[in-house]
Amino acid sequence: MSALGFPEGELDGLDIERSADFAGVPDSFQRLWTPHRMAYIQDGQDPAKDACPFCVGPMMDDEKSLIVARGEHAFVVMNLYPYNSGHLLVCPYRHVAMYDEASEDEVLEIAHLTQTAMRVLREVSNVDGFNIGMNQGRLAGAGIAGHLHQHIVPRWQFDANFFPIIAKTKAFPSLLGETRQALADAWPTA
Ligand SMILES: [Zn+2]
Repeated sequence: MSALGFPEGELDGLDIERSADFAGVPDSFQRLWTPHRMAYIQDGQDPAKDACPFCVGPMMDDEKSLIVARGEHAFVVMNLYPYNSGHLLVCPYRHVAMYDEASEDEVLEIAHLTQTAMRVLREVSNVDGFNIGMNQGRLAGAGIAGHLHQHIVPRWQFDANFFPIIAKTKAFPSLLGETRQALADAWPTA
């Protein structure tokens, strides 16, 4: 057995990073360490409804599913593939793919949740702008093409990748959890 507990030879040729080799306190390096992406990789890129993360998420508690707020017809969730820290998705609970399949109630609530998300992001962080939109269909870039989702991407003048109020460097999963908590705490109660 090797020092890491793997059979001799198993790790040959692999570049193993030891956690002890890294700084133990937050520093200014941005590390693209993203094991959370396995959730999507394992489920395939366009999972069936019973494996759809936007259908399964609301069945779990908010912390586990990274849900920031729940409405009657739609909910707000942290994106597991953040383009930027605080990247949110607004989804209807129903598994519908296209915006014109959404009911009036769903359209209205997606709009209201989007507005509230902008206000909350501004309150929690000094957001300078937003990119908001939907990719409709795989060829248009939708990652989970089967379930409608509106992107809300906060932008900063210098596009610092992380909220200034949160440690500059963390593994993304814990960063997402902390960001979710900050946004959920700031979300207005109905
Ligand atoms: Zn779905």
